[in-house]
Amino acid sequence: MHIKDAVFLEDLCPKFRFRQWRKSIHKFTDKSCIYCGKPSESIDHVLPRSQGGLSTTENCVPACLSCNGDKSDNNAFYWYRKQKFYDPRRAMAIKAWLDGDLRLAIRLLQWANPNYSNKKTTYKEDRNEFRAA
Ligand SMILES: [Zn+2]
Repeated sequence: MHIKDAVFLEDLCPKFRFRQWRKSIHKFTDKSCIYCGKPSESIDHVLPRSQGGLSTTENCVPACLSCNGDKSDNNAFYWYRKQKFYDPRRAMAIKAWLDGDLRLAIRLLQWANPNYSNKKTTYKEDRNEFRAA
C-alpha cells in the first residue's frame, strides 16, 4: 500500500521525480564532473538537446558548470579531446555511460581518479533509483 502511494505521488509530481533523478545521476560519480573530476554542479546532455538529445540517464552526465558551459552544443568527444584535462579513461567512461553501462563507466572513473570515494554510495544501492529514472 505504501509503495503504491509513493508511485502515485511521483506520477503526480514529475518535478519531484526529476529532482530525484538528477540527484541519482550525481550520486553515480560521487558528485564529480565526468569530464574533469571537479565538483559537478549541473547535468550535461552529451548529445545536446538542440540536436535531439534526450533527458535520459544514458545521455545525461554529471558535469561542472565550467565544462557544461564550455562544451555547449559541441560534440562531447570532439570537445573533450581538446581539453587540457583530457583523460582517455574518462573518455571511455563517457562512452560506457552512453551505452548504458554505468557499472563500467564508474569503474573507469575510479581508475582515472584514485581519490574517488565510492564507500558511501555503491552502485547496488543506486540501482533502484536508476531503474526508476
Ligand atoms: Zn568539469
